[in-house]
Amino acid sequence: MKKTIAIVVLLLAALGAGGFAFMQWKAGAGAKAEISELSAKVSATEKKQEAAEKELTETKEKLAPLQVTAQQMEAVKAALSSGVTLEDLEAAYAKDKKLSAERVLGLAGVRLLTKGGQDPSTVSAFEKALEMTDWSRQQKVICAAQYALAAAGKPVKPLSECAMPTAPVKPDGQEALPKDSPGSKKDEHGEKKGDKKGDKHAVHWDYEGLMGPENWGKEFPKCGRGKEQSPLDIKGPFQKVRFSIAPDYKVGPLRIINNGHTIQVNVNPGSKLRIDGVAYELLQYHFHRPSEEALNGKRQAMVIHFVHKNDAGELAVLGVLLQIGNENPGIRTLWEHAPQKEGPEVQPESVAFNPANLLPRELEFYHYDGSLTTPPCTEKVKFYILRSLVNISREQVSAFPFKMNARPLQPLNDRQIMAN
Ligand SMILES: [Zn+2]
Repeated sequence: MKKTIAIVVLLLAALGAGGFAFMQWKAGAGAKAEISELSAKVSATEKKQEAAEKELTETKEKLAPLQVTAQQMEAVKAALSSGVTLEDLEAAYAKDKKLSAERVLGLAGVRLLTKGGQDPSTVSAFEKALEMTDWSRQQKVICAAQYALAAAGKPVKPLSECAMPTAPVKPDGQEALPKDSPGSKKDEHGEKKGDKKGDKHAVHWDYEGLMGPENWGKEFPKCGRGKEQSPLDIKGPFQKVRFSIAPDYKVGPLRIINNGHTIQVNVNPGSKLRIDGVAYELLQYHFHRPSEEALNGKRQAMVIHFVHKNDAGELAVLGVLLQIGNENPGIRTLWEHAPQKEGPEVQPESVAFNPANLLPRELEFYHYDGSLTTPPCTEKVKFYILRSLVNISREQVSAFPFKMNARPLQPLNDRQIMAN
């Protein structure tokens, strides 16, 4: 009986093992089926992917001639990324007199869609948006607008930050951003700043926004990398120097120009400044508002820069700081004839002027080696900033046609400021 039980137990055990084995086999087979099903799916997917990739490649090839449109679409996309709908834009345009930069850009996008990139209102809307937009915060939008302008044939060279993978490529592999479209105006004097077409050296720069001082270095390397740049914050300790300066300015016809960056008076030969016995010829003088140089961190209302050159071609700038006070009679004469808008030099008949009228009596100075404070920021320019300030009235400052035309203060680096 014990034997029978043992056999039954063994059989049961065998059956159990067999059942387990059977279950395992069955599961394995199921998995195999599943794997082969999945493999089929994978291969189908791979085929689909191949087809998609092929399609993508073909699309990319087709895309090449559409690059300009793609850029314009980028601009529109950027413009509309704030969530503003076309209807909103149109409504805002109808109601508001003053639109935000984003809205102007959005409108420009809409115009681009409806009227195309060559439409003057599209172009001017993008230009307006560029003018209004703060570079540091709106880089993407600015880049988009720049590319849209470039695509529309405006002479805009997008900044290096605006590297765009979809930029059209010429057959020779060079970047082909349209510079001058056939319809664009050439070399027009009264034209908006920066549109100096037909002259590749006339690169636009400004005191704010996209082409502001922080970006001058992109087009003018010295502005970005120079180690002896102007203007400076003038503060002690000063190294004593023993020489003096002696202006010998002559009366002459008034030749005055608004060059788009400042009011400048050009001077006929004969006016000189002697620096430590060396004669420097006065070429021109011009104004900055506020003063570019600071005294102990404080800028004055304005500054006059008298620019001189000696026979060796070396430049020296005499700076006269203007503080708010009584009306300045010399400046009154200049302002009467200063053109309010950018344009060619004017020479009003029978107006004679002596630049010495703009100097203080005392000629003690601060002195340092610096640079032109405008592009190309050339160095080895000697600066002599007079310690005595000269008055200018608040009204005269307001009448200056440039609200702000001063470069930010530059690092002193290894220089020493001197004083006599
Ligand atoms: Zn200057």
